[in-house]
Amino acid sequence: MPVPGPRAQAIIARDARVLSPSYTRDYPLVVQSGQGATITDVDGNRFLDFCAGIAVASTGHCHPEVVAAIQHQAAQLIHMSGTDFYYENMVELAEQLCGPDRKVLFGNSGTEAVEAALKLARYTTGRDKFIAFYGAFHGRTMGALSLTARRPVQREGFGPFVPGVHHVPYAYCYRCPYGKVPENCHVDCAAAIEDQLIRTILPAKEVAAIVVEPVQGEGGYIVPPARFHQELLEIAHRHGMLLIHDEVQCGAGRTGKLWAHEHFAVEPDIFASAKGLASGMPLGAMVARSALMTWPPGAHASTFGGNPVSVAASLVTLQLLERELIANAAAMGAYMMDRMREWPARFPLVGDVRGLGLMIGVELVRCQQTKERAPQERNRLIQMCFERGLLILGAGENTIRLSPPLVITRDQADFAMTTIEQCLTEMEEGS
Ligand code: PLP
Repeated sequence: MPVPGPRAQAIIARDARVLSPSYTRDYPLVVQSGQGATITDVDGNRFLDFCAGIAVASTGHCHPEVVAAIQHQAAQLIHMSGTDFYYENMVELAEQLCGPDRKVLFGNSGTEAVEAALKLARYTTGRDKFIAFYGAFHGRTMGALSLTARRPVQREGFGPFVPGVHHVPYAYCYRCPYGKVPENCHVDCAAAIEDQLIRTILPAKEVAAIVVEPVQGEGGYIVPPARFHQELLEIAHRHGMLLIHDEVQCGAGRTGKLWAHEHFAVEPDIFASAKGLASGMPLGAMVARSALMTWPPGAHASTFGGNPVSVAASLVTLQLLERELIANAAAMGAYMMDRMREWPARFPLVGDVRGLGLMIGVELVRCQQTKERAPQERNRLIQMCFERGLLILGAGENTIRLSPPLVITRDQADFAMTTIEQCLTEMEEGS
């Protein structure tokens, strides 16, 4: 039936009376249930989910093994607080996330994981400043928000922010901040940190860390060249800074490797994870080199962080990722990119298609030559997809993001691509 149906409309009206207007709802989807990559709304409409609850439902909605692990754990122990007591599954998950030389602090969300990383970086270096990137999204608590540079509405009215955060351009090659194209790019965006910031206003020895998303998420699903990340690591270490990777959106298998930093052959000193880590149960993790974790008892913790039920969901999530879903993300991502990389030639509205695994961005422009952004067209495309049974979200000002559960099949990938192609054709015919 047409969306939103009557039950959805009634719930949306109740929502408007009692829920914060700060939530961003792109279209009126009222969810009843989810299974795999399929969502059913309260009026019985079925949708193919290509946003996964903002890149969270990594193993698909309600994967039977995840559900069983949650049910089993809930019947045994729901909470005891890992900050004050011990329980085995938290240790087991930490062992799996760490490798030989790392330690973990658990929280409940991405922003908490980033916040913990900032605090550890300050504590361990004795320095107070940070370098972050335009377009970055690191969360909405005060420390993470101070690094976030995505949209003014996210900051307006909330200052003053944590002092000492300096922003520089991200390596956004489609819109190179230095006006280069890949064939003549001799300027490394990373090197500009030294050439511009450190030589002018920012004493390097005051900088605790460079904080960067391996693939920029909310900023527009932007994949930088490996050289950018490698150079950032070198600069950081040359000046005694730490390199912090925010893997909250791009981690946990989404890019076709467990961690996105593996694509760039760079090992950060600290990384933050959340979103897909526990298939939808709230869990964040700040993972740091053991040598950095010198803070004493009481220095940092969180009552719910590492909750046993979330941890149980995460242990199964990691098993599923390793068993099949990381490989599926890589295979389905490659399958989609094979067809989608032709889109700029086929559709004048498409300026750029980029991505790693199942983290794919399609940037819409009014003119491929001038690259004038097409935000209204992007929003219209999202609406049209919704009306045709495909759930997608935007990222950046004029990009759509495809971040489905990592369980998708070829048929589902085909449905998504065909739906978007039909919408683009209709939009172009109508314009
Ligand atoms: N970091 C990145 C890269 C994100 O994409 C997000 C959320 O979108 C966050 C941090 C914040 O995560 P949360 O909303 O769980 O606090």
